[in-house]
Amino acid sequence: MFWDKKIETLKPDALHALQLKRLKKTLLQVQNVGFYRQRLSEAGITPSSIKNLDDIKKIPFTKKQDLRDGYPFGFFAVPLKKVVRIHTTSGTTGKPTVVGYTRNDLDAWSDLIARNMTMVGITTDDIFQNMVNYGMFTGGLGFHYGAEKIGMTVIPSATGNTKRQIEMINDFGVTVIHCTPSYAMHLSEIAEELGTPLESLKTGLFGAEPWSESTRKTLEKRLGVTAYDSYGLSELFGPGVAFECPERDGLHIWHDSYFVEIIDPKTGEQVANGERGELVVTPLVKEAMPLLRYRTGDVTMLLEDGCLCRRGKKIARITGRSDDMLVIRGINVFPSQIEHVLLKIPEVGNQFMVYIDKVNHLDEMTVEVEINREYFSGELADLANLQKKVVKELRDALELRTTVKLVEPGSLPRFEGKAKRVIDRREME
Ligand SMILES: [Zn+2]
Repeated sequence: MFWDKKIETLKPDALHALQLKRLKKTLLQVQNVGFYRQRLSEAGITPSSIKNLDDIKKIPFTKKQDLRDGYPFGFFAVPLKKVVRIHTTSGTTGKPTVVGYTRNDLDAWSDLIARNMTMVGITTDDIFQNMVNYGMFTGGLGFHYGAEKIGMTVIPSATGNTKRQIEMINDFGVTVIHCTPSYAMHLSEIAEELGTPLESLKTGLFGAEPWSESTRKTLEKRLGVTAYDSYGLSELFGPGVAFECPERDGLHIWHDSYFVEIIDPKTGEQVANGERGELVVTPLVKEAMPLLRYRTGDVTMLLEDGCLCRRGKKIARITGRSDDMLVIRGINVFPSQIEHVLLKIPEVGNQFMVYIDKVNHLDEMTVEVEINREYFSGELADLANLQKKVVKELRDALELRTTVKLVEPGSLPRFEGKAKRVIDRREME
């Protein structure tokens, strides 16, 4: 093992002491970054003003825009000659964000990936095909070096030419694949079309985009793998920040390397335990580009109950972006929560629309949802019960009364690309 195995199951006190020590070291490291020197001096914060982990709340957040403003090397805390690699994040608009790594950073990062892969039972006996982009995207080289660290056989196939990918899986006896869930779906379809079973596959590692439990079931059936969710972002090294263990019920985040907070994206306050909000991460072991309280924009929650594997608190699967949050009568609602509730009710389909109106100065939320064709009997009494059930399930999950309208199968709009399921009519009045 290249990493200290004991670190995965530290008792809370020992873990907190380690986190505090590393947080203080990070506060010293950021003094090499002009942005942080100014930010922290404005806030009156020195490493000695952080006496316990709760004091982290005094530190201002770092936002994606701050990193963009620092383009290209404004956030580097070491001289450029110590930076041995650069990645960039795909900037949807304007300049991308540049991320730098020292040799120690690359080691720490590949250790994290190796920890994740080991956690799900991947060993030196495995044959690993890495079907993601090997360029500036961190998923390619990140997984590549993590897998090599374990010592398995790595096939850096990258993306494209699906027929050739299938050929390699079969010819080389590949046991583990890594790709996006949408590419895995495509791969399985092409394999089916070709009538080529992928019999050697055992494990699928899927990440870089949110995916659902139903996608998991489909991929597992079609590819004959056990599928694991992987989470990360380039600003925090790349993939490897959080990963499912064999329980596959939430993702372990490595608390010795990342300090995690969940905040209300509107107020910036930490939310109560078990509440959904925006994931904020302070990496604890980064050299080239240390960050303080980085707002990921991803929505999740901390799962309070420990895991059977005893690796500590997990985060729930990422269910959306904090920018999508709605405030209804003072309660924060994420469209992904609504989707989550509806997916658990088999009598309704997964097509829905949400309308928000102001009625007598009060916010009113209406959810239109299609009845599942298989359950659509045309009996009005059945529908009344189903309608009540959906209202109750939504109220339990959101703590909010909603109006539910059941509509016929196929009657709601379909979306290509990003779905626009929420129509907020409050500002239109
Ligand atoms: Zn676990």
